[in-house]
Amino acid sequence: MTEILTSYACGTWTAPAADTSGTAQPSVRTICDPATGTELAGVSSAGIDFAAVVAHARDTGGPAVRALTFHQRGVILKALATYLNERRDRYHAISLTTGATARDGLIDIDGGISTLFSYSSVARRHMPNSTVYLDGGVERLSKRQTFAGQHICTARPGVSVQINAFNFPVWGMLEKFGPMFAAGQPVIVKPATNGAQLTHAVVTDIIDSGLLPEGALQLICGSTGDLFDHLGEQDTIAFTGSATTARTLASHTCVTERGTRFFAEADSLNFSLLGPDAGPGSEEFDLYVRQLVTEMTAKAGQKCTAIRRALVPAEHLDAVAEAVSGKLAGVTVGSPHDEATRMGPLVSADQADDVREAISTLTAAGAEVVCGGEATRTSGEGSGSRAFVPPTLLKAAADVDAVHDVEAFGPVATLVPYRSLSEAVEIAARGRGSLVGSVVSHDPEVVREVVLGTAPWHGRILVLDRDDAKESTGHGSPLPTLVHGGPGRAGGGEELGGIRSVLHYMQRTAIQASPDMLTAITGTWTPEAARRTEGGHPFGKDLSELRIGDTIVGGPREVTLEDVEHFAEFTGDTFYAHTDEEAAAANPFFPGRVAHGYLVVSFAAGLFVKPEPGPVLANYGLENLRFITPVSPGDELTVTLTAKQITPRETDEYGEVRWDALVTNQDDDIVATYDVLTLVEKEAGKSKS
Ligand code: NDP
Repeated sequence: MTEILTSYACGTWTAPAADTSGTAQPSVRTICDPATGTELAGVSSAGIDFAAVVAHARDTGGPAVRALTFHQRGVILKALATYLNERRDRYHAISLTTGATARDGLIDIDGGISTLFSYSSVARRHMPNSTVYLDGGVERLSKRQTFAGQHICTARPGVSVQINAFNFPVWGMLEKFGPMFAAGQPVIVKPATNGAQLTHAVVTDIIDSGLLPEGALQLICGSTGDLFDHLGEQDTIAFTGSATTARTLASHTCVTERGTRFFAEADSLNFSLLGPDAGPGSEEFDLYVRQLVTEMTAKAGQKCTAIRRALVPAEHLDAVAEAVSGKLAGVTVGSPHDEATRMGPLVSADQADDVREAISTLTAAGAEVVCGGEATRTSGEGSGSRAFVPPTLLKAAADVDAVHDVEAFGPVATLVPYRSLSEAVEIAARGRGSLVGSVVSHDPEVVREVVLGTAPWHGRILVLDRDDAKESTGHGSPLPTLVHGGPGRAGGGEELGGIRSVLHYMQRTAIQASPDMLTAITGTWTPEAARRTEGGHPFGKDLSELRIGDTIVGGPREVTLEDVEHFAEFTGDTFYAHTDEEAAAANPFFPGRVAHGYLVVSFAAGLFVKPEPGPVLANYGLENLRFITPVSPGDELTVTLTAKQITPRETDEYGEVRWDALVTNQDDDIVATYDVLTLVEKEAGKSKS
């Protein structure tokens, strides 16, 4: 009997329940190396108490993760990514047993780990060091400004369940885990049976690392049993796989009656278009051919983002067919255990059967085989296995419906001729919503028409040409900072995209209250909330002393005509509004000559600054600067600077302080508003020690 993968449930590694004869129950499903047919392991979740698993996540993992600030979660993600990175050789060895070549393993393993690093940055750089995220600015809701609104995002006291596809056992888990953990969610991972041995190895290391609070991550190898029966309003399911399974899961009562959130990323008939400008001999033609071959063969085409429909100008169809089949002929198909192999088998013999059946459906509907089909070329170990499918290029007229319906989830793509760009845009849309499309063209007008025409049907669009080809990450690579997901048939979900995906797992709430109450709730000073001017200059306070609302008022200072002239001459900014009374008066916005906006900001700095060395280390920028009332010579400026947001850094001796700057004139009109960004020591004098 092969090893049965354990599940990590309720804080222990749990083997499936055995029957009375001592062998595992018949619900065990076997995982084989698709290249060799060797049995590797089995999975079964028999005996797992899913109610207890959900309760463990909710009651133990959730509170521990939610107690951490976004930055603390980010620091853990970074430590975890570093820890896994040191162990990647082991994962690469296991990856070969899933049918993935060494190069495929890079996408899955290294890609997954780098996604964790990326989410560590998102949590530490784009989120505050607290547990509340402010979504957008304060909305003014009343004339006297005693009543305002602010959207906040908070962690949901539920659990996030991942159900992953077989094609990326590591990336598929980590690209969801990063945002879920950053969002304060405990996570239950259910990998696909095929490839579960690799997910199991990575989760084992994650648990062994001791970096995560207990209950933050559980692993279910095998079926999900009655897991969904225990999910409710605060829980989320993130699914990747077939549209059929997505539909089944989305119709569970936890989703339809109890409102469990359900995100799906499913089948996708992605297009790639060759521009009419990119005929044979052009750089873009070669790029198109190379990209199509890469997308057909990487992961043996088992990528949700792979190109399925290759749209080419009718007059170039034969040239593209010849060039692509020529390159495919040079692709060595074989066992990933053999270093010469460029493309491995599919994940299993069953999956290969599905792909062969899809090819038959396509050809029966009218598609013609350009190359591939049944003629398998293999080399090395396991070459006779049923799991091998050769790279298969088909061609079909756009009116062959099956081309837009049937996803052959393997090394298969269909060339489809188009006669005009508007027709091409319509053809792309017949996929009924896809994850990604690409346009290969150097003509901006072609690119604009295709991108704007196809964007409503796609989550991501890559434009490839001679200018970006060298650095382009390619059609098939989702990136942590960019949205991955697509409308319609692609599932309607959205993953990745930097902070967007973290916020998906949180609850957005509109809070309406007085400025003081908003300040108390959010921990961020809200305009019109109380200010505190006593207690000394706020620039004299380190982060242990500084409080939200601490304020310095500077001024008034008169702005003279000499100041304006001096500033104009000194800086070279002699724009007529500052130097020519008559021309300035003719401008509808100005009463006559006015002070430079930058003069106002400079004078304001002179009014609020504390010149002596102290805990304020640096000013690293201004944000949201707006000049509102023009300043005429003779006007007097007053600046009010208030500590708005304090963000200590977890791993440094300093943190960031955002100050609200308000510049007014002698009539209390607002002259300018902006945020000043500074770095301030946690403890005065400690940052250099
Ligand atoms: P499935 O939809 O069958 O499986 C995806 C995941 O869902 C797996 O973890 C699977 O577990 C699980 N699952 C299946 N049924 C249930 C259920 N009733 N309850 C809970 N979990 C369930 O996809 P396959 O992996 O079989 O792939 C089939 C097709 O899906 C491919 O040929 C391709 O067309 C498409 N696909 C699309 C992907 C995408 O990213 N867009 C990725 C992978 C596949 P288990 O493996 O244990 O059955």
